[in-house]
Amino acid sequence: MRLYNSLTRKKEEFIPIENKKVRFYSCGQTVYEDAHIGNARTYSYWDVLVRYLRWRNYDVFWVQNFTDVGHLTDDADSGEDKIILTARAKEIQPMVLVESQIRRFYEDMDALNIQRSDIYPRATGEIPEMIEFVKDLLEKGYAYEVNGSIYYDVTKFPNYGELSPSTYSDESVGARIAVNPEKRNPQDFALWIRAPPEHLMKWPSPWGFGYPGWHLECSVMSQKYLGATLDIHGGGIDHLYLHHPNEIAQSEARTGEKFVNYWLHAAFLTVEGERMGKSKGNFILVRELLQEYDPMLVRLFLVNSHYRKGVDFNREALDQIQILLDRLRTSIATIDQASGGNKSNLRDDILQVEKDFIEAMEDDLNTVGAIQSIMQFIKKVNTSLDNEKALLEEAKSIIITLTGILGIKLEEQEQRGKISIPELLDLLVDLRGRLREAKQFELSDQVRAKLLDIGVQLEDKPDGTIWKIKS
Ligand code: AMP
Ligand code: ZN
Repeated sequence: MRLYNSLTRKKEEFIPIENKKVRFYSCGQTVYEDAHIGNARTYSYWDVLVRYLRWRNYDVFWVQNFTDVGHLTDDADSGEDKIILTARAKEIQPMVLVESQIRRFYEDMDALNIQRSDIYPRATGEIPEMIEFVKDLLEKGYAYEVNGSIYYDVTKFPNYGELSPSTYSDESVGARIAVNPEKRNPQDFALWIRAPPEHLMKWPSPWGFGYPGWHLECSVMSQKYLGATLDIHGGGIDHLYLHHPNEIAQSEARTGEKFVNYWLHAAFLTVEGERMGKSKGNFILVRELLQEYDPMLVRLFLVNSHYRKGVDFNREALDQIQILLDRLRTSIATIDQASGGNKSNLRDDILQVEKDFIEAMEDDLNTVGAIQSIMQFIKKVNTSLDNEKALLEEAKSIIITLTGILGIKLEEQEQRGKISIPELLDLLVDLRGRLREAKQFELSDQVRAKLLDIGVQLEDKPDGTIWKIKS
């Protein structure tokens, strides 16, 4: 498989450190608000990557973190902790907010069929390791203390900014200089931040009470669970500048080893050309969109563009995707209904679609090409319904497998929000009536009794049966 490595700025053959084992870390959600569809797009691709690698028999261990402390409202190591700020506005404890947001995150990801990573470490659960990490960096001379805060001295790390030269640019630095006079160099960043007595989320450390810097968290959590060198590290393109260069600087300074072999960055989901973001106010939450749209439609939209190219969200785009999804679902229904014949020309097409799918995915996770290969195959299947039934079943199975790697479940038609309880009860009343007409009184009585068990009472009237919810 070839992956575009942001570090070398080219596509490279993916070779794991150890045989078929893959150590994968992706930067996760800062759990102060619900996930928006931009977040979900990035996570969808990591899910596709993992599903694909596992299908190709790689043994993937995937870690994605929850940031529940230390992510400040600005990049200059000043500003407020996003969790504390939101918790205060809601008048709840920060950890109440975190717990509720994590549950909601799982609900949203599950709905979109974004599978869960193997573990989701939380920053607040790894504070002792973070303190040890900072101690090491101090001992090795990469960090310095000022009034209980610890900063990383970027001049001590010659490769700082290798991932993204703009990290070192005058402009980006300019924005950060004025704010913090404690820093020796403008590019230095906080590893540990001292906390005033009234600060809610703080921990004792050798330097007094404080809390970890956001960049430090990812270095600590990835290395703790995956070792000194990761095979793949993923994140949104916003992390190419600052967050990921800082992760490299910290990690490599501590271990003396290469931190990540392949850096993957997903482009932005935009709205009218502008990045969707919580601070921009132009965001659409996953759960909002799913009230209106089938989750599989949204999921297909999220992966029907290349991860390194941005995608603009609008409702017309979703309408187009509906056509694709309908075609996929109809093909499954058509195969189910077909009685088959004695032809066997589909055999070659089944091999071909798998080959085309793999070829697309091996080319830097080209999900667009992968979807096209499935759509082409479907066209073939639709004109080959006179093939042996066993081959038709195989065709169905490969469609389900390949779409499944993209996170699309075709067999369960999503009905959330669309089930009407009155309609369902009318249906059962009608069924009971038909059973009585057929003199199946035992069964019809059972339907009546079961409905009563769940609180629905049937009343037989001269002009038909009505149902009532028992009060
Ligand atoms: P955050 O909770 O802001 O740290 O973001 C979580 C993940 O979503 C990170 O990997 C971000 O890079 C990614 N992300 C944030 N906004 C967008 C967007 N508009 N499009 C794609 N990915 C995004
Ligand atoms: Zn991170």
